Amino acid sequence: MPQLIVGVDVGGTKVAGGLMNAKGRLVKSLVIPTQASQGFRASFGQVLRLIERLIHEAGGKGNVLGIGLCAPGPLDIRSGIILKAPNLPGWVKVPVVEKLEKRFQLPTKLENDANAAGLAEVLFGAAAGYRHIFYVTVSTGIGTGIIINKRIYHGKNGAAGEGGHVTIDYRSPYRCSCGSLGCIEALAAGPGMARRARVKLEQEHAMPSLLRQRTGGNLSRITPQMIVQAARAGDWIAQQTLEETGLYLGVWLAGMITLLDPEAIVIGGGVAQIGRPLFQKIRATILKYTLNPSLAKKTPLLPAKLKKEVGVFGAASLFLPAGEAAEGEY
Ligand SMILES: [Zn+2]
Repeated sequence: MPQLIVGVDVGGTKVAGGLMNAKGRLVKSLVIPTQASQGFRASFGQVLRLIERLIHEAGGKGNVLGIGLCAPGPLDIRSGIILKAPNLPGWVKVPVVEKLEKRFQLPTKLENDANAAGLAEVLFGAAAGYRHIFYVTVSTGIGTGIIINKRIYHGKNGAAGEGGHVTIDYRSPYRCSCGSLGCIEALAAGPGMARRARVKLEQEHAMPSLLRQRTGGNLSRITPQMIVQAARAGDWIAQQTLEETGLYLGVWLAGMITLLDPEAIVIGGGVAQIGRPLFQKIRATILKYTLNPSLAKKTPLLPAKLKKEVGVFGAASLFLPAGEAAEGEY
């Protein structure tokens, strides 16, 4: 009886993989750099070799239940196709499930990385013990996952849960990578934060600023980390930028709570590591903008627990009974 599941998280700079046992423990994990610049053949070859190694570690194919794979969108999860992988040149319309099933003769599933991370947090992480959660990861983009009854909610086409592209300000001057205006991703993810700080520094060009000093006069060098450090050191513009980030995320999450009434919200990603000051602002804003503040007050806002292995956990979880979609269900 096969006991182990291969989980693979395909990212732009690295591919992480692991072996999960039936109890949900990672018994082996591996990380390799993606040879992205060398094109599809090289980087896909890396993924194949990683899976081969994991199957070998498992003691052969006979011990493996399946291969779960997660990747950033856009994907067609119903057909098992990676439509386009950001940061991986040449990964366009890759029928990855078909390719892996043919190569390894093992059942294979593909999932959006934020959905997989949300599933992992509910099964093994910050939201263990809950059934219905809204998962958010804020880093260079904003990924989200809607987990209902410990399962990923996929919608009709498998495209649900793209909360990062819900606009909170249709008149915003900030255009999102998706082409729309004022998506929460364009406003509150790392690059959006840096962009807002830049605009403020340009507008307040006469105001002394630690943040400006740290860029050496080149505002395009601003990173979210610089903003956080400058805010801690008392820089007004940096503090305003963080306040706004909390406000935007709070307005948006208030809407998500009004819509979904989740048991908990889990927040992960680099920007979430800003910690207390950001979480406090988010919490205070949620109560102002949600329909039922008395209910929302009891909705915990939990920092994500599973760190860099979250994708591997999530991908492997696609083969666990709680994570598995029923036959034909998306
Ligand atoms: Zn967008």
